[in-house]
Amino acid sequence: MPIIVMKFGGSCLTDKIAFNKILNITSIYSEVKRVYVISALNGMTDLLLKTAKFLENDKEIDNNMALIEKKHIDIIEQIFPEDSEHYIKARDWIDDKLSELEDIFADIKEFGLEPYYKDYVLSFGEILSTYILNQYLLSHGKDSVYIPANKLIITNDEFNNAYPLYNLTNSRIKRLLIPLLENPNKNTIICLTGFIGRNKIGYITTLGRGGSDYTATILARSLYDVGDDKNIKVILWKNVDGLLAIDPKYLPHSSLIKNLNYDEAKHIANFGAKILHPKCLEAIEKHKIPLEIRNFDKPLEKDFTEISELTDKDQIKGISAVKFATIITVISGSMVDVPGVLAKIFKVMSKNNISVSLVAQSSSEISTSYIIKEEDSSTAIAALKKANFFSEFFRIKWEHVAVINITGQKILETKTKADIFNALDKKNIRIKAISQSHDELNLSIVIEREKLEDAINVIHENLYEEFEGFS
Ligand code: ASP
Ligand code: MG
Repeated sequence: MPIIVMKFGGSCLTDKIAFNKILNITSIYSEVKRVYVISALNGMTDLLLKTAKFLENDKEIDNNMALIEKKHIDIIEQIFPEDSEHYIKARDWIDDKLSELEDIFADIKEFGLEPYYKDYVLSFGEILSTYILNQYLLSHGKDSVYIPANKLIITNDEFNNAYPLYNLTNSRIKRLLIPLLENPNKNTIICLTGFIGRNKIGYITTLGRGGSDYTATILARSLYDVGDDKNIKVILWKNVDGLLAIDPKYLPHSSLIKNLNYDEAKHIANFGAKILHPKCLEAIEKHKIPLEIRNFDKPLEKDFTEISELTDKDQIKGISAVKFATIITVISGSMVDVPGVLAKIFKVMSKNNISVSLVAQSSSEISTSYIIKEEDSSTAIAALKKANFFSEFFRIKWEHVAVINITGQKILETKTKADIFNALDKKNIRIKAISQSHDELNLSIVIEREKLEDAINVIHENLYEEFEGFS
């Protein structure tokens, strides 16, 4: 029997109707082994974080604790008859967990918000919501178990943004999860908390914001590694139909990307669209595990996004954009053929915790341009000016710009690039920098910010036949 790891985010847990939809999906997928990965209720992770950060104000803690409690109680009051067995279990769980949380807040007040405490606090969102969903499934006669992911997913020590240690995780999955899944007499649903893991010595870690998608793919990969059944798929239930070729902000009736491969998806996930956590792809790519992004409101819809090995090489998959970027250009006539100039530039950036995206340097080496987020620009420029090396030999220029990314195998063809440049030329849009490495499925173009909407539209108009939606 195939295994499907499904992730339900906060927007799938909003009220009784939403829980009912999960039940409906549970019946649609009754003929498979199901692992459900659950996020916190909408807004819960932010609320927990906010509370942990402002503990000076006792009144605010009380208010927030009351709100955290209320949001969960509201749900259980909707989905369970009052005083039923499952209502009482969920209610007791909420009470227990909230008193544990109160103790942690007291510790944080005493010792400060260490990275570990932050993850510990954030983990409560998933620990509460997942337990509630498990009780809900039980109350409808399903065979279901609650498993906190810190029992299964072992990570490194990087709190707030941990990476799984697959060897250790795999042996836990083999020992604790496979026997449940492979029991021939039962079809138990596994309800697993998203977003959290633990390090080797037992402290709770989190996988980075939006990390529940990642949990689902880590699990799929581990199940593939250690289980007998290699027929595994991931489904992420979202409040959209899937990945769109262009953000509707720029093009109202954009088409859906139905198929794309892991590399294309990585480019798209990394850039603009926050539909998919970029780290997910790295987890499933190794074993070519397919991932579907489907609309939670339309579980039987035949159109959705599937990420797998398969892609149509004759297509452009998507255009995405970063509107608020800054291009920095470091110029010198005297530093040609001097080793280490780039290393020095990027060291200044990394020391200031600034991430660099696109880099463009012509082989004459006279100048180097690179892109950072606009919000980092004043820090970046001040730091470069302060470094003696740059103030002596270099000129530093900068400008606020936008970056467009065009993704798909088709971009590897020179003709496609010619079409893009012609399209931009028609609208008098000047290109400030471009970047594409030799087998990169992605072309990045830096342009004036004011021209961003125009540029996306004209590229789409001229290339629309190359998009998937066109048929
Ligand atoms: N609850 C976590 C967050 O909001 C993880 C997730 O939703 O995927 O970041
Ligand atoms: Mg969330």
